[in-house]
Amino acid sequence: MAAATELTLTDTAAADQLREMFADSRRILFFTGAGISTESGIPDFRSPGGLWSKMKPIYFQEFIGSEEIRREAWRRRFDNSDGWVGAQPNQGHLAVAEWIRRGKAAAVITQNVDNLHQLAGVPESQVIELHGNSTYARCLTCQRRVELADLEKEFQATGNVGPCDCGGIMKSATISFGQSMPELPMRRAHEETLLSDLFVVLGSSLSVFPAAEFPRIASHNGASLVIVNREPTQMDELADLVIHDSIGAVMTHISQ
Ligand code: ZN
Repeated sequence: MAAATELTLTDTAAADQLREMFADSRRILFFTGAGISTESGIPDFRSPGGLWSKMKPIYFQEFIGSEEIRREAWRRRFDNSDGWVGAQPNQGHLAVAEWIRRGKAAAVITQNVDNLHQLAGVPESQVIELHGNSTYARCLTCQRRVELADLEKEFQATGNVGPCDCGGIMKSATISFGQSMPELPMRRAHEETLLSDLFVVLGSSLSVFPAAEFPRIASHNGASLVIVNREPTQMDELADLVIHDSIGAVMTHISQ
């Protein structure tokens, strides 16, 4: 696991402005991407030099169509080549959880699959996962949930993960390339977006659609839009406030 990024606040004035926006808001909605979790040492696999520039992603249809590809997918999963195992929530995750606990923020929509919002204490019902969750698996037919630890034992013993009792294919509960977006989380994300008056993007380049539509919908609906991301994003021009800084540092600053 890579060392966690240093959390230093460089733009105190912008963070102060964000604190005021939080104070004035009736209903905050968070939207998080890879950038919040890189501060926990999880690599951003979309970035240059990231996992996807070294290893070709497996598409859903390939996974469904070939036992060999499924074996490869599980091998990658249990090799921890994506760097998720053992990662812990950081100050950014903890601050998000705290605003939700206070009732000031309604939920967090996330593009991440690392389960760190739940580990930070956000109730399952208030984490809206657009790309699923990599910390457990589901049967693609009957949707039965199976813990990865159990599947790993099977993989170590047999070299693969067999079908569910119902005959369906087991797959980690993430949304793969080529797989359709999950209906219920997409609907909930849309509803929460329309209810929010302050939409706060934390660590997303806003380049993956349809997920990246939500900040635009919020803005068109009259909500204030804030983007906290180390790099410029495609929607900076649309935002009421843009902060290019450490998420952990900004969120700690405004949460004190
Ligand atoms: Zn099944």
